[in-house]
Amino acid sequence: MRLIAYIGIGSNLGDPVVQVQEAFEELDAIPDSVLVARSSLYSSKPMGPADQPDYVNAVAALDTLLSPEELLKMLRKIEDRQGRERDGEKWGPRILDLDLLLYGKKKINKADLTVPHPGLHERDFVIIPLAEIAGDLNIPGRGQLHSLIKSCENHFLKKLITGK
Ligand code: AMP
Repeated sequence: MRLIAYIGIGSNLGDPVVQVQEAFEELDAIPDSVLVARSSLYSSKPMGPADQPDYVNAVAALDTLLSPEELLKMLRKIEDRQGRERDGEKWGPRILDLDLLLYGKKKINKADLTVPHPGLHERDFVIIPLAEIAGDLNIPGRGQLHSLIKSCENHFLKKLITGK
């Protein structure tokens, strides 16, 4: 059966637009998976510490045969290849951040993997690009995607590059 996983992409160090575009290519190269949609690229104001550059955010849809755990491992590998440093600072600046937002309609609550991603429902920089490529999805445990837009925090999104 066709299973679509949605991946959130964020970057605010180096050349974020290039890194996000490279991330789309890397996602498409994951084994047993095909990139089926890419959202527009948006700039957004950082969450947490304000003394860091704005972010570039996007969302990708991946048709995949991998398990959620295998997929998460692949995301970590891509982050590492792009030079992500893990210094443990929450919401600190980063070359590339890849989050598993949704894995079909599945709910997962494990020590190292929570799906739907726990921040999804409150982040406009996730919801807006996701709505662009997924329409009005139902987010397990949270309701319709469009109804979440009204209550999420404003990170002053600006569209930079239109998706396809
Ligand atoms: P960060 O890269 O800072 O977003 O955090 C990565 C950590 O969050 C890793 O240790 C993951 O195991 C954990 N994690 C839990 N749920 C998710 C998810 N849905 N997507 C990505 N990372 C997750």
